[in-house]
Amino acid sequence: MTSTALDTTAEAIGETPTAQHLINGQWLGDADTPRWNPARPGELAAYSPAGSAVEVDAAVTAAVEAQPAWASLPAPARGAILIKAGTLLEERAEAVAEDLVREEGKTLAEARGEVRRAIDVLRFFGSLGWASSGEVLPSGLADTVVTTRREPLGVFGLITPWNFPIAIPAWKAAPALISGNAVVLKPAELTPLSATHLARALHDAGLPAGVFNVVHGKGRVVGEALARDARVAGLSFTGSTFVGRQLQEILNARHARVQLEMGGKNGVLVLDDADPRKAAQVVAAGAFGLTGQACTATSRVYVTPGIRSAFLEALVAEAALYVPGDGLEGGRIGAVVSSAQFQQDAAAVRSAVERGASLLHGKHDADPSGGLFFAPAVLADLPFDDPAVVEEIFGPVVAVLEVPDYEAGLAAINDSRYGLTAGICTDSLASATDFAARVQAGIVKVNRPTAGLDLNVPFGGVKDSSTNTFREQGRTAVDFYTWGKTVYTGI
Ligand code: ADP
Repeated sequence: MTSTALDTTAEAIGETPTAQHLINGQWLGDADTPRWNPARPGELAAYSPAGSAVEVDAAVTAAVEAQPAWASLPAPARGAILIKAGTLLEERAEAVAEDLVREEGKTLAEARGEVRRAIDVLRFFGSLGWASSGEVLPSGLADTVVTTRREPLGVFGLITPWNFPIAIPAWKAAPALISGNAVVLKPAELTPLSATHLARALHDAGLPAGVFNVVHGKGRVVGEALARDARVAGLSFTGSTFVGRQLQEILNARHARVQLEMGGKNGVLVLDDADPRKAAQVVAAGAFGLTGQACTATSRVYVTPGIRSAFLEALVAEAALYVPGDGLEGGRIGAVVSSAQFQQDAAAVRSAVERGASLLHGKHDADPSGGLFFAPAVLADLPFDDPAVVEEIFGPVVAVLEVPDYEAGLAAINDSRYGLTAGICTDSLASATDFAARVQAGIVKVNRPTAGLDLNVPFGGVKDSSTNTFREQGRTAVDFYTWGKTVYTGI
């Protein structure tokens, strides 16, 4: 490991496209892995170091050493550092958002929103330093007080994906830190800069060395070493179901705590009594916003016969508004993150069409010579078990299928290995209420896009979307990073 001084002044933020490890308060690593801007072929977005088990070991050692002193700081003092990190990030927000666009491809408006989310998350969890973290319970014994406390577990590993490269690290790290844990973060290889900006804000806000560490590199090298380290008390992961399940086995084998947020195949049911134009807007925002690269994105829609043609017409008109383009130059949806993902999106559409689906919107170059721009695809006339209806694509692709009635639509939405978000578009309070009660999904949206949640609400799914034990976000997030204790005091 080589140590380099990193200029962390506000003026320098954003000027250097270099990510580094942060281990024990030191910026380390030879940043020699290039990341190219997906919207501009040949333009470099960042360099980052490729870590190994050696860096993971050093980061976990630093975290183990730093954690007790951090936990013994008064919670409001821990919170003040998180709040200050939010303020520093706010000062740097525009440069951070531009870096995020260059490395991930989303639009500047989406990136600004994401950076704002990271700032607000730091403030939200920072303010919990002043909040109650236990209860006073009555006792059946005389002169006895019963209280509950929540204790930190120690060191947490965080493994995060590229699609929300600053918000997800923030919403995992902040509840861990406010609870008195130390953290080692392994960000996605494609988006090293955004995580580095979060680390800079925490470091510059005065977080003690070793409390928050970052190791960049490959999932199978850095991520797996982190999962296997016996000193790591728990792991929070967001990414694919395939990798998540592998990590769950590793963590379960050593009886460590694990939280997984994985794939989705989120369905929306559009009923005859809905307004077709409003329903199309809801579906398009959920399906095409963020270039469809959200685990909460809408990817299948079930419509009842009376609204089918008006809805499809409105959805195609909406899709035409989502013109892809360079996120820094006003595209309505940004570039696809990588050419592998682009090929996956294109192949999913192409093979659905080969199997007989109608492509109502979205023609694609097989091999784009410019940026990785993918026009939103609207597929119809597919069988219910078509791979485009069943498997996660992770792009701006939506399949629309007809169902005879509400019951058939609900059954179709529930007939999935995933259960993250689900939506219904209807004017019927009875249908909306029944749907909310019976749909198998962790988040239900009535007349609202499946993607997009406030920072204070529990987030997570069921089935293959989530471990479905601990929820992320809001006050609930703290449960995963703490254990409960009940204390009897005789007076
Ligand atoms: P995606 O398809 O969205 O990239 P992945 O599940 O492959 O989802 O990646 C999500 C995160 O998990 C990334 O940080 C990646 O580096 C990491 N990762 C990938 N494979 C492994 C693995 N075998 N062990 C631990 N982490 C991994």
